[in-house]
Amino acid sequence: MSYEVRAVVAMKSGAPVEVQTIRVPDPGPGEVLVSVQACGVCHTDLHYREGAINDEFPFLLGHEAAGIVEVVGEGVTDLAPGDYVVLAWRAPCGSCRSCRRGRPWYCFDSRNAAQPMTLLDGTPLSPALGIGAFAEKTLVAAGQAVKIDPAARPEAAGLIGCGVMAGYGAAVNTGGVSRGDTVAVIGCGGVGDAAIAGASLAGARRVIAIDIDDRKLDGATRFGATHTVNAQGTDPVEAVRELTEGFGVDVAIDAVGRPETFKQAFYMRDHAGTVVQVGVPDPRMTLELPLIDVFSRGGAVKSSWYGDCLPSRDFPILIDQFLSGKLDLNGFVSETIALEQVEAAFTKMHRGEVLRSVVVL
Ligand SMILES: [Zn+2]
Ligand SMILES: [Zn+2]
Repeated sequence: MSYEVRAVVAMKSGAPVEVQTIRVPDPGPGEVLVSVQACGVCHTDLHYREGAINDEFPFLLGHEAAGIVEVVGEGVTDLAPGDYVVLAWRAPCGSCRSCRRGRPWYCFDSRNAAQPMTLLDGTPLSPALGIGAFAEKTLVAAGQAVKIDPAARPEAAGLIGCGVMAGYGAAVNTGGVSRGDTVAVIGCGGVGDAAIAGASLAGARRVIAIDIDDRKLDGATRFGATHTVNAQGTDPVEAVRELTEGFGVDVAIDAVGRPETFKQAFYMRDHAGTVVQVGVPDPRMTLELPLIDVFSRGGAVKSSWYGDCLPSRDFPILIDQFLSGKLDLNGFVSETIALEQVEAAFTKMHRGEVLRSVVVL
């Protein structure tokens, strides 16, 4: 048996996305069918549409979603119909070289559904980040569906499935921010603001938000930024030094992903500090740095994939923090929209007018 549902599909590079009826198969072994309740619009969806990720059109977009498990496939024992879940794009396999060494957050063989979802003519769809949740129903590997507290509304909860987790984890997991640290975050969109929130919750005593848009800097204070720097007309490296007794921060997070912002992060940290890159660069970008500076400044230069998160561990923690009022997930929800409005949401996102537009189904 299969299900015909409405979904947002990118048919070819650069073309506007369209709502189409797609076919979703009944779950096979190890798979679950999820009835999607809400799904955020992320920059990565736009990158897929632009052909900047790969050429495997048509794409079924959407990957920041919460929903209800509707049917479970053979062998699925830890989920049941009716479970409320957030979808993850990392589902550790348990047997790759990283999982076997006890580091499942770097799993190199993350699981997805084995069966394809298709257009009505049978053309297989490539689901964004192995999820594809701008759809009334989607098919994922059971490990991708992480049970959370049903008290968290889906518009907010779904966002921890990608951008919020990436930013929060960049600060807490990759950067290892802890009590008393000073932190700077460059780029105050959804990921940067989540890094600010994570740093603040981890006990950072100073969290400096850096952007070139005053509206975004205002927003950053809502998530816990203690200071803001508008980098248009001000050297952010100097500004950060001034705010840290001349030393620089313990952890500098680049949530933009450009050579210029990476260099700023590199130089605005204290000796032996940590640089975390979480903003995704364009594949054509290159970086030039004096090697002696890499050596003599010590510390660590790290990149953060999905906030180095372990969804089964981290999603329930973030939801608890949301429900206890510590993590303002509602603050990331700029608007709720219908499936038909995803293309318009891309435009708003591109202009920096929203943190997240969230499709509600
Ligand atoms: Zn693995
Ligand atoms: Zn995303």
